[in-house]
Amino acid sequence: MTVNWAGNVRYTASEYVRPFTVEQVRKAVANAGRVRALGTRHSFNDLADSPGVLLSVADLPPIVDVDTTRATARVAAGLSYAELAPRLDAAGFALPSMASLPHISVGGAVATATHGSGVRNQVLSASVTELDLVTAGGDVVTIGRGDPDFEGVVVGLGALGVVTHVTLDLVPAYEMRQRVYGGLALEALDDHFAELMSCAYSVCLFTDWRAPALTQVWVQERVDEPAALPSWFTAEPAEGPRHPVDGMDPVSCTTQGGVAGPWFDRLPHFRSDQPPSSSGDELQSEYMIPATDAVAALHALDEVRERIRPALQICEVRTVARDGLWLSTCTGRDTVSIHFTWVSDLSVVLPVVRLVEERLAPFSPRPHWAKTSVATGEYERLPDFRALMGRYDPAGKFANAFTERHFSGPETSGRNR
Ligand SMILES: Cc1cc2nc3c(=O)[nH]c(=O)nc-3n(C[C@H](O)[C@H](O)[C@H](O)COP(=O)(O)OP(=O)(O)OC[C@H]3O[C@@H](n4cnc5c(N)ncnc54)[C@H](O)[C@@H]3O)c2cc1C
Repeated sequence: MTVNWAGNVRYTASEYVRPFTVEQVRKAVANAGRVRALGTRHSFNDLADSPGVLLSVADLPPIVDVDTTRATARVAAGLSYAELAPRLDAAGFALPSMASLPHISVGGAVATATHGSGVRNQVLSASVTELDLVTAGGDVVTIGRGDPDFEGVVVGLGALGVVTHVTLDLVPAYEMRQRVYGGLALEALDDHFAELMSCAYSVCLFTDWRAPALTQVWVQERVDEPAALPSWFTAEPAEGPRHPVDGMDPVSCTTQGGVAGPWFDRLPHFRSDQPPSSSGDELQSEYMIPATDAVAALHALDEVRERIRPALQICEVRTVARDGLWLSTCTGRDTVSIHFTWVSDLSVVLPVVRLVEERLAPFSPRPHWAKTSVATGEYERLPDFRALMGRYDPAGKFANAFTERHFSGPETSGRNR
C-alpha cells in the first residue's frame, strides 16, 4: 500500500494499519506519533500521506443503518459509494448525487468535498448530519449539525482525526436515464449555459479542446422528472455507448441510450464492477469557480487550447450547488467545476496546470483538495479551520506536508511539521 491509485504519489508512511473495531482505531491513533486516515487512495496529491502511520477504516463492520423515519443512514466511513448505494436503494432511499467513480470511499469523499453534477446537487459532505471522529488522544467525539464546530469538521481533509462513521441525509430512491449527445459549438453556451446545465437533473459537458466545441454532452434525467432540452440544442444523440474520452472503449461506462435504471447505476460515469478505462494512467486537476463566470472561464481556456491539448485526455464541466461548509470548494457560491483528466506525465502536465490556473485566476478558482494543483483557493473561514486544527490536534499528530503548505499559521505554530 505504498502508492496512490494513479501511482504518482509514493506514501512516506512507515506503517499501514487496518483495524477491525473502533476500539482498535482509538488505540492505533492514541499510540501513534503521527497518523492519518487513508481511504481508497484516489487522491492525486500528497493530501492523504503521513510521515507515520496510515490508517484505513475499510475493515470496520460495514454498517448501513437506515432510519426510515428521519430519512438518514448511519454509515461506516470505509464503505465505497458502490458498496453503500445498492444497500440504500434496497431500503428505498438514495443519495442525491455521486462522484464519477463509485469505487471512492465515503470517508475520503466527505473529507474532500467530492461532488457529482446538477444545479441543485451539493457535494456529498453537505448530506452529512453527524459524524464520529477519533481525535488525537484516541477519544471518539460525535459532532452533529448545530454543533458550532460542525461546518468546519465535515470537510476536514483528514487533518482533525479519523472519521469512523457518518450519518447522511437521504432522498427517496429514484430511477434515471442518461443520454449522450455529441458535437456542440462552444459559442452555443454563450447565452445558454445556465439553461443547458439546468435542463435535466444532472448535466455534464466534455471537451478535448481540439476545437472550440464540446465533444459530448451527458444528460441525466430522473424518470419522474424528464429533461427539457432547449429548442436551440442541436447536438445529435450518440449512435452507441460512449466513453467520455472519444475513442476509448465504453465498456467501463454506465448504461446510456435512455435506458431506465437505478440512480446509482446512472449518476457515476463509470461502472462499479469495472475499473475506468485508463486504470490509473492519468492525473487530474479540477477548479471550482462561481457558476456565473462559467462562460467567461471557458472562453479564457479556449484561447489557450492549443497549449492545453498535449497534456489533456479530457476536460469536463459540471455544476454543484452551494453549501456552507468552511472548506468545501463550493462554500458560499453556486459552482461550476472545470475538471481536467491529464496524461500521466507530471513534467508535461505541470506547466499546463500553471497555465490553466493563470487563465482561471480572474474567477477566484478553488482547486479540488484531492487533485493536482499549484494554486490555493480562498476560504473565508480558513483562520477558523486553523483554529480547529490547533484545538483538535494541538501536537500536529495529523499534520503532513500538505497541511503544512496549506494551513500553517499562528493558530497551528508549535505543532509537528
Ligand atoms: C478516477 C477518479 C474519478 C474521480 N471523480 C471525482 C468526481 O467525480 N468528483 C470529485 O469531486 N472527485 C472525484 N475524484 C477525486 C476523489 O473523490 C477524491 O480524491 C477523494 O478524496 C477520494 O477518496 P479516497 O477515499 O480515495 O481518499 P484518499 O485519497 O484515500 O484520501 C483523501 C483525503 O481524505 C481523508 N480521508 C479518507 N478517509 C478518511 C476518514 N475515514 N476519516 C478522515 N479523513 C479521511 C484522507 O486523510 C485524505 O486527506 C476522482 C478521483 C479519481 C481517481
